Amino acid sequence: MQKNNPFITLVTPEAPITVQSHGGRAKCLQRLVRLDLPVPTTVALSFNAVHRLAGGDMPDLDRLMEPFAQDQLLCVRPSSEDPDWGGPGAVLNIGINDARHEELSKSIGKPAADELYLRFIQSYSEHVARLDPDMFDDIDLSGPSALKEALEAYEDEAEEPFPQDVTTQLGGVLRSMARAWEGTSARLLRMAKGAPADAGLGLVVQAMVLGLGQGESGSGVLQLVDGATGHPLVKGRYLSQSQGRDALEAGASSLFLTKDERGPSLEEELPEAFDHLLTHARLMRNRLREEMQVEFTVEDGTVHILDGVRIQRSAQAAVRIAVALAEEGIISHEEALMRIEPRALNELLHRQVDPNATRDVIGSGVAASPGAASGKIVFTEAAAQASDARGEACILVRRETSPEDVRGMHAAAAVLTERGGVTSHAAVIARGLGLPCVVGANNIRFQTKVKQLTAPDGRVFKEGDVLTIDGTNGDVLFGEPEMLEANLDDSFKQLMIWADEIRDIDVRANADTPTDALTAENFKAQGIGLCRTEHMFFDEDRLTVMREMIFADDPEDRRAALERLLPIQRADFVDLFKIMSGKPVCIRLFDPPLHEFLPGNRAGMRDLAEALDLPLSRVERRIEALSEYNPMLGMRGVRLGITVPEIYDMQARAIFEATIDASKDGEAVVPEIMIPLVSAKREVELVKTRIDAVAAAVRTERGADFDFRLGVMVETPRAALRAEDIAPHCDFFSFGTNDLTQMTYGLSRDDAGRFMSAYVQQGVYPEDPFHTLDADGVGELLKLGAERGRAAQPNLTLSVCGEHGGSPESIAFCRKVGIDYVSCSPFRVPVARLAAAQFTIKDKIG
Ligand code: PEP
Ligand code: MG
Repeated sequence: MQKNNPFITLVTPEAPITVQSHGGRAKCLQRLVRLDLPVPTTVALSFNAVHRLAGGDMPDLDRLMEPFAQDQLLCVRPSSEDPDWGGPGAVLNIGINDARHEELSKSIGKPAADELYLRFIQSYSEHVARLDPDMFDDIDLSGPSALKEALEAYEDEAEEPFPQDVTTQLGGVLRSMARAWEGTSARLLRMAKGAPADAGLGLVVQAMVLGLGQGESGSGVLQLVDGATGHPLVKGRYLSQSQGRDALEAGASSLFLTKDERGPSLEEELPEAFDHLLTHARLMRNRLREEMQVEFTVEDGTVHILDGVRIQRSAQAAVRIAVALAEEGIISHEEALMRIEPRALNELLHRQVDPNATRDVIGSGVAASPGAASGKIVFTEAAAQASDARGEACILVRRETSPEDVRGMHAAAAVLTERGGVTSHAAVIARGLGLPCVVGANNIRFQTKVKQLTAPDGRVFKEGDVLTIDGTNGDVLFGEPEMLEANLDDSFKQLMIWADEIRDIDVRANADTPTDALTAENFKAQGIGLCRTEHMFFDEDRLTVMREMIFADDPEDRRAALERLLPIQRADFVDLFKIMSGKPVCIRLFDPPLHEFLPGNRAGMRDLAEALDLPLSRVERRIEALSEYNPMLGMRGVRLGITVPEIYDMQARAIFEATIDASKDGEAVVPEIMIPLVSAKREVELVKTRIDAVAAAVRTERGADFDFRLGVMVETPRAALRAEDIAPHCDFFSFGTNDLTQMTYGLSRDDAGRFMSAYVQQGVYPEDPFHTLDADGVGELLKLGAERGRAAQPNLTLSVCGEHGGSPESIAFCRKVGIDYVSCSPFRVPVARLAAAQFTIKDKIG
């Protein structure tokens, strides 16, 4: 009869039960029934039935109870679509009343019968009658008169006797669970976990297997892997004379499952039941194709399986479990790949604050680069270096960072800034270095002059105080909580191999230094998609020469300074080419405004005057002359390349000479040279002419030939719109979506952090567009640029090298518009590889 009722369904192998109509638990129980496991009789209520029930429309309870034996005690458990969305707690022992209690006292003994009844009275009082849970505080629940006192307490509080009618009890429990699910706070809570607003709840009504009484009876849980590591291991507890999950809370009085030095075990005490249990658990793993926690009850020596729940797991365990299941042929490689949330890989790639550690959060900002690190706070780049020299971990605290801070960032364990968003300088560099970083932490007061931070709660932290930066969630913590180390084990590597076999978009890394390139290689990037060459000039010795070049009065002096930079830059490129051993390396010509290389304060200016043997006033004047109102839209990128062409000449020469040197004993290197901030075709023509001339000169001088590819960074809206004019001069376009986003929105990438969270919270932007590519606006320009570029130059290689390159949502978009590869910070390469594979699989399965 239940088979024909859309609301009440007996769980049989053929019953029409789905996760979407009855929830995950009901579906899982049906699978267990299909496996012929000893599952007690179960009836499932659909989402619809429960929704109607919350509105007062009670299902036909007589029909619901039909499949159960007369006087059968029942339990009700929630069954939502996703167990992570929570739900009301299970209620056990429904159906017990005075008469049933008396019978049970005879069959299983009075103490056990008392315990069953008491448990139900307590749940019913709290969840159904909505009485204060502390009403039982004065009762000694293990005392001989506990039951009598509890019934009296109920009658006093509820002003009616405890219900004796089974239908009343069951109806009350069902209604209270349905209403609890539909309450506002429960809805908000599950929506925060990703549930849709109208997520449904199913309920399962199951015959109780008592776990109390004569013979060996009890309950427990078992799983076959460790949820923290994913290593195989029989894990769980069993408690004699208990129900539900009591065994987990009972501490020392519960049994271990397998033989254990710490105490007695189920394996020794009840070997036959243990064997059955293990066989059932293994069958569940193989046939449900998942690691499950098995909830079981032993009644008079016989094992019953009450439930199976997907085990909670760390990211590391999730990867190990998925790979193990696929290696054993239980799931396919594709399914293993689909089971891992790409961003969860960050947990494996970086140290993290132990989820069990106590967190003393003193403030928060934008989670700009994942991972966590502790250290003494320092407020200057010099102090960071000094700290590093002493071997002390430090956290570099700045209002915002500039290229001058890069050396300090190298020396620091983490970075914290007051300003900025996900594509600000600090964020980009930190991600490249794999350093935890929180930016835009403007709820903390930064008093960098007096070297102190004031937390919103008034606590003050001075230089040398130890803080922890949690770049995974944007928190700043006091002290040094316990950490979990990064862990790139064989399972991770295997998963990545499968991802590479499947994905159809390439992944390169943004890498500026040999260290970055090594990380990129390590994470199997398919090349370097963006080498920001300006980052190569911040080492002490180079910076001085760079400054000499900037201070040069005429092209001749400038050329002399550049000649000193040439061998240094050439060596950088040889290193990169060698590390990448034949894989493509895309080198972006100098991009930032020159003044970024000049000191920002008087002491720095004095040092510079001394180093260059110039009067201080001349240094000041030069800096003043170079300063701009809006440097990000000023004399930078190709504009510098055209007005001070000697810089690009030197870089092109360094690239070509390095190409010849690095090709000598290996595969021929074909460098890619990229021109930044282009907005007009003529810019490309001018730069191309000079680069071709340098190439010709190097070929003649060195008597060697080489190929190279020239391309443009499409990062101004005009370059995207005029792609058809620009493309004929190019081998490739790389969309610089950081600047493209900045210029499309007219939104400063360094200042947007101040109001971004307000904007996102109020729904002005669905997401931070510097973080997730704005498919509607910036994406349209990208699509347009790609189409127009390819129309004029069909062989044009297309890529995205802004920070979006590493974000899964943006990768989906890039695949759709025909981008050949994305390029992102080296530490994001694995995330991008997995996300790319998942999109290919999704397309395949439709
Ligand atoms: C960009 O603008 O997207 C880009 C990759 O370059 P940068 O971040 O160096 O400006
Ligand atoms: Mg840019």
